[in-house]
Amino acid sequence: MASDDGTSFDLVILGGGSGGYACALRAAQLGQSVVLIEKDKLGGTCLHKGCIPTKALLHAAEVADSAKESEQFGVRATFEGIDMPAVNAYRDGVVSKLYKGLQGLVKSRKITYVEGEGRLSSATTVDVGGVRYTGKHVVLATGSVPRSLPGLTIDGNRILNSDHALALQAVPRSVIVLGGGVIGVEFASVWRSFGAEVTVIEGLPHLVPLEDENNSKLLERAFRKRGINFEVGARFSGVEYTAEGVRVSTENGKQFEADLLLVAIGRGPVSDGLGYAEVGVEMDRGYVKVDALCQTNVPTISAVGDLIPTLQLAHVGFGEGILVAERLAGLPVVPIDYDGVPRVTYSEPEVASVGLTEAAARERYGADAVESLTYDLAGNGKSQILKTAGAVKLVRRKDGPVIGVHIVGSRAGELVSEAQLIYNWEALPGEVASLVHMHPTQGEALGEAHMALAGKPLHAHG
Ligand SMILES: Cc1cc2nc3c(=O)[nH]c(=O)nc-3n(C[C@H](O)[C@H](O)[C@H](O)COP(=O)(O)OP(=O)(O)OC[C@H]3O[C@@H](n4cnc5c(N)ncnc54)[C@H](O)[C@@H]3O)c2cc1C
Repeated sequence: MASDDGTSFDLVILGGGSGGYACALRAAQLGQSVVLIEKDKLGGTCLHKGCIPTKALLHAAEVADSAKESEQFGVRATFEGIDMPAVNAYRDGVVSKLYKGLQGLVKSRKITYVEGEGRLSSATTVDVGGVRYTGKHVVLATGSVPRSLPGLTIDGNRILNSDHALALQAVPRSVIVLGGGVIGVEFASVWRSFGAEVTVIEGLPHLVPLEDENNSKLLERAFRKRGINFEVGARFSGVEYTAEGVRVSTENGKQFEADLLLVAIGRGPVSDGLGYAEVGVEMDRGYVKVDALCQTNVPTISAVGDLIPTLQLAHVGFGEGILVAERLAGLPVVPIDYDGVPRVTYSEPEVASVGLTEAAARERYGADAVESLTYDLAGNGKSQILKTAGAVKLVRRKDGPVIGVHIVGSRAGELVSEAQLIYNWEALPGEVASLVHMHPTQGEALGEAHMALAGKPLHAHG
């Protein structure tokens, strides 16, 4: 029986990742007393095993590419190779600085931080190592972990998940990446820049299959140019060890060999054995079911982040955490429009989007009610300076607002911030076209695409 002396709070939050800590920070800001329970490290997947470390690796990859390609710009530099321990030290330095900052922030907001594994014990309590924490409300934010397939054992040695991939101390000679989604494509991009032979295997017909098909095709074209091999529409059928590595078979009868296999087929919720179902929380395949305001069927329990079946992104976790904190503090809140959340794959080139794909827009509004325009970055000065290829594709409702923006190119991720405003403020192409964009910037490509869609193209054929 857990003791509960001095352990009553407005909010008990289980899990200190993006969703949980954002909720804690906002709730404390709103005057709520909060206990945040974390079994591993404050910051969760994003800070320690996800967004931040992978983006540091991708930046190191960009530096390597710049060195290798310097001659194209008339600069004589030599590329001597990758010192993986030094790359890891750089990456860990970034993570540890942010980690310290976050710890300081949690402390400064007077949040009670508890280190330990928690378990939901009732609609208002969580137990951690013999202590019972009681809240007027409980927020579940236990996140997700890498998934595997039946019969595919991740040994952490030759068959890896993303956690293992981040711990490598050397650049592999060759890698097979199973899964052409965001995580798989980002690792493929890093390893190629670092000099590995890379093959991506994807069961669906395209890489980054959730993106607009145009984005997928542009990424595939760029990957082909970079010498990244990929096999799409190929479902995994088995893996065996070879003398030096692994051999992967696919249902289309092909086989692929490499030193390592990275399994990047998605992430599943962390909910097993945590008492959720026992307390009566409605679940769906391990995910906690919530309404549009992240409220479960149990009135005192909310859930956020990768644990609920919404987009598995850190900024979605932040948004949901803030929404819950505000709702529980009695502020007016509105549901998140998940279509309006930007998505970025930080490979080289980057793939970025917000709003609906053209296919989804046609399905939602009818094929005749939707039109699209693709503006090639060939017409964009800054992109030519960077020697990057790609495009901005706009999807709009005929005679209506822009409902999808899809971008591929180096640094495309930075462009999606403006696209997000365009989508979320339901801008008409003509309204964006009338805004003068800076020259020469890649952002100008967004302006030019809207000018073209509004019927007055400048650096494009009309
Ligand atoms: C390789 C990789 C790259 C990624 N890149 C990006 C990116 O660039 N941009 C982006 O937006 N997203 C990215 N993501 C996704 C992002 O990391 C997640 O969406 C985000 O971390 C989800 O936050 P969360 O709080 O729901 O879960 P988590 O971050 O997983 O946090 C959950 C926390 O709960 C703790 N916990 C679990 N069970 C218990 C328990 N019983 N008791 C106490 N604590 C517990 C865990 O230790 C963990 O710290 C990436 C993910 C990966 C794996």
